[in-house]
Amino acid sequence: MEIDNSDNSSRRGLRKDAEEWIDAHRDELVRDIIDFCAIPSVKGSYEQGKPFGDGPFDALNYALRLCEKYGFSIQNYSGYVGAADFDPALPRTLDILAHADVVPAGEGWTVTEPFKVVEKDGRLYGRGTSDDKGPMLCALFAMRAIKACGIPLSKGVRLIIGTDEECGSSDIRKYYLEEQPAEMTFSPDAEFPLINIEKGQFHGILSRDFEENAALPRLLSMEAGIALNAVPQKAVLRFEGLPMQEAEEPMRELEKLCGVRCEISGEQEITVYGESAHASTPEGGKNAGLAALILCGKLPLSPSEQLEACEKVLELFPYGVTDGSGLRIAMEDAESHALSCTLDLFSVSETQAEFQFDSRTPLMASEENCYNVAKESAQSAGFSFSIGRKVPPHRVSADSPFVRTLLSAYEAVTGLKGECLAIGGGTYVHDLENGVAFGAILPGIDTRMHGADEFIDIDNLLTATKVYTEAIIRLCGGEGPAKDR
Ligand SMILES: [Zn+2]
Repeated sequence: MEIDNSDNSSRRGLRKDAEEWIDAHRDELVRDIIDFCAIPSVKGSYEQGKPFGDGPFDALNYALRLCEKYGFSIQNYSGYVGAADFDPALPRTLDILAHADVVPAGEGWTVTEPFKVVEKDGRLYGRGTSDDKGPMLCALFAMRAIKACGIPLSKGVRLIIGTDEECGSSDIRKYYLEEQPAEMTFSPDAEFPLINIEKGQFHGILSRDFEENAALPRLLSMEAGIALNAVPQKAVLRFEGLPMQEAEEPMRELEKLCGVRCEISGEQEITVYGESAHASTPEGGKNAGLAALILCGKLPLSPSEQLEACEKVLELFPYGVTDGSGLRIAMEDAESHALSCTLDLFSVSETQAEFQFDSRTPLMASEENCYNVAKESAQSAGFSFSIGRKVPPHRVSADSPFVRTLLSAYEAVTGLKGECLAIGGGTYVHDLENGVAFGAILPGIDTRMHGADEFIDIDNLLTATKVYTEAIIRLCGGEGPAKDR
């Protein structure tokens, strides 16, 4: 397709009109975000007609009513997904994929209650302000600005409102059974400038059975990790016959060695506290599970096959090493960068040990150089090995007219350099052939998505709305055929 990337004077005129409209509608945008975020759209249990419970259902209906009020034609896909078309008579060319569900409130909010958005110091605080209700409404207001300013489009743009992004994206899988993806999709559910590469995911399970060791002192159990996609923050070890005063010195040694904290948490129990991190950036964490295994090696426990398994697993996943080198799968390519690998679920009993890792794989990872090598390494260390999940990487060419046009719109509006990013996490567009994540958060800002005191800057909202407006005009504008620059 041909896309207009030029920045001629008539385009600048259109952009100026739209930008003025957006600035004039700041308060309305803020008010809509406050109302939208008041709906606690956390996933609930299935009910007839409400596939993800009341919250996501109410949020979807709210968003659809808003789209209708602003003059767009809407469709509801059985409560899974909603859609609003700029003009259903136009050939659908661009999909904007956003979501109305949110993660649970969590604890530790200080500025406001999670579902009571407040404006403070130029920011909106509340669950969903930055992920993803605020950005969704930026896209909606971009569509409004274009309509209100009478800017002609010759190709259609559709806002898709999902309701299950945070819990596995079953919403859009259902939607895409009924509808074809548009030729181009962007999702305002990440950061600017643009994410065109998402690494693959590779989950492996290592296990080993052994004879119970009756000799004291012994380890009864070890547990760490609550989710495969997070570095464990806490590990709990339970013992039998261990004189706890003999644990003190090894615990202090471990604290020095690993930068973790150890505590005697029961009569025969030690808890190790590290620091969690997302599995796509494990280097930022301190793996409490691995640290706890190191501690086992320092305690005066009677030798056993169980302890040997713990030792072996440390050879495959050394503490502080997150590049997969222990499994012999460290690799790196220029476009998608280095593989990451973190052991995140630990369960050791008297007769069995099971460990699960989460690896994010670059474009170059293959059966031969990655999956098979990991399997061989695990097996030669004495573990049974199985693959839990294998998701191929996602990539849209940085040279495609689509990507170049989005970046040019971003540059024209912000004056910042537009460039592609590769990340280890998977976004909403991971399975869409021509889908990228585009905004809405400006570079260098941590809006505490998923955390307490999530926020978004109001200036960021206005800028994102302007960027989306410009992107839609450049991708779908109706001023006749134009040349790719
Ligand atoms: Zn999101």
